[in-house]
Amino acid sequence: MPELGPSPLVSGAELPVAAARAAIAAALRPITQTTTLPLAQALGRVLAGDLVSPIDVPAHDNSAMDGYALHGADLDPATATVLQALPATVFAGAAPGPVPARGQCVRIMTGAVMPDGLDTVVPIELCTVEGSAVTLHPGVLRAGDNRRRRGEDLARGQPALRAGRVLRPADLGLIASLGFAEVTVMRRLRVALFSTGDELRNPGEPLPPGCIYDSNRASLRAALDRLGVDVLDLGLVPDDPAALQATLEAAVAGADAVVTSGGVSMGDADYTRDLLARMGEVAFWKVAMRPGRPFAFGPLRGPGGPDGTHAPGPFLFALPGNPVAALVTFYAFAREALMVLAGAQPLPLPVLQARSTVAIRKRPGRTEYQRAVVAPAADGSGWQVRLTGSQGAGILRSMSEANALVVLRHEQGSVAEGDTVDVWLFDGLV
Ligand code: AMP
Ligand code: MG
Repeated sequence: MPELGPSPLVSGAELPVAAARAAIAAALRPITQTTTLPLAQALGRVLAGDLVSPIDVPAHDNSAMDGYALHGADLDPATATVLQALPATVFAGAAPGPVPARGQCVRIMTGAVMPDGLDTVVPIELCTVEGSAVTLHPGVLRAGDNRRRRGEDLARGQPALRAGRVLRPADLGLIASLGFAEVTVMRRLRVALFSTGDELRNPGEPLPPGCIYDSNRASLRAALDRLGVDVLDLGLVPDDPAALQATLEAAVAGADAVVTSGGVSMGDADYTRDLLARMGEVAFWKVAMRPGRPFAFGPLRGPGGPDGTHAPGPFLFALPGNPVAALVTFYAFAREALMVLAGAQPLPLPVLQARSTVAIRKRPGRTEYQRAVVAPAADGSGWQVRLTGSQGAGILRSMSEANALVVLRHEQGSVAEGDTVDVWLFDGLV
């Protein structure tokens, strides 16, 4: 992993966001263990292998409407068509009904198997019925209308879903339609989470002078929950080498990835860097972004074997301590990486284009993430976006009041009022 060297920090150069993302992506090793679950428990889980359809769906040509099944060749485009209805109705789920001859038709319900040789259904509301005479007006129907073809949803032998799919409601319906009651998915990714800092206290405890409550663990925990991983909460860790080492050892023993916030990301104390150098190959980056400049990433070594070798350990994502920076770096670097580690095809964040209602100062050469509110323009001209209050990296309220982040790209300069900018929406975001 040559990209993971510590050189960007040592040289003072800043690493573009895209380069940091690429270096992370190149290093990841997805988990391989799977588990088989009933469909009702599989929402949001990661499909372990391609799912191949064992059947045609639907299994037969069938009617898409309540009406009359007929021979398309009987339709006369120029004049009314009068057909003779057989004295029967073909119901869904019933055995195939009588087969009308040319000039005849038969009453059919939605989902019922088409009688052999018939290719068209006239919906009941488009025909006039008098006794057994069914009259169709010219031009309302073409041959083949309102018939669903065998295998049109899925043909037998065709992959219905690909490995790595994060299962959504429609996917579970599709799996059920193939007759599977269970599905094999990746086991859940285990992510250890802790906060570092002598000044931090747990909510619910008294707050001594000079201390603050740990908010990062609450927001990162929630983001991890939305991602569908199992969280191993390792609590608060003081700025103390022994405590940090003990906590990292617990994470190595029990997790596939470790997410931390605070001090450790900057390697601001030499002991942190020394410790991480002993425990793994962690690179400390100054990323060309705002907020969230200091960030560290890399694999830790797994537990040692009797022969002195180490199994691969969890990947460390050490996020900055400032609450907004911690969340922004989580979305920018950790979110997709954790999905990859979990065996998923990562779903990139949807990017919306919106017109900025204000000018935004920005210098080229770094990516900026500004907290913002996106709303439809009053004049119906599309989406517009305004920034929320103070944009300080420590001001969590700016994030809570926002429903989106404006993402100003690395090479982009200042934005004029009315310019279009990229926006990440929080709704739908983990
Ligand atoms: P650090 O990255 O440790 O230098 O922290 C940067 C800033 O973020 C400092 O003001 C910290 O007090 C604050 N901070 C660090 N961790 C947390 C946390 N878990 N919750 C809230 N604020 C934090
Ligand atoms: Mg700190």
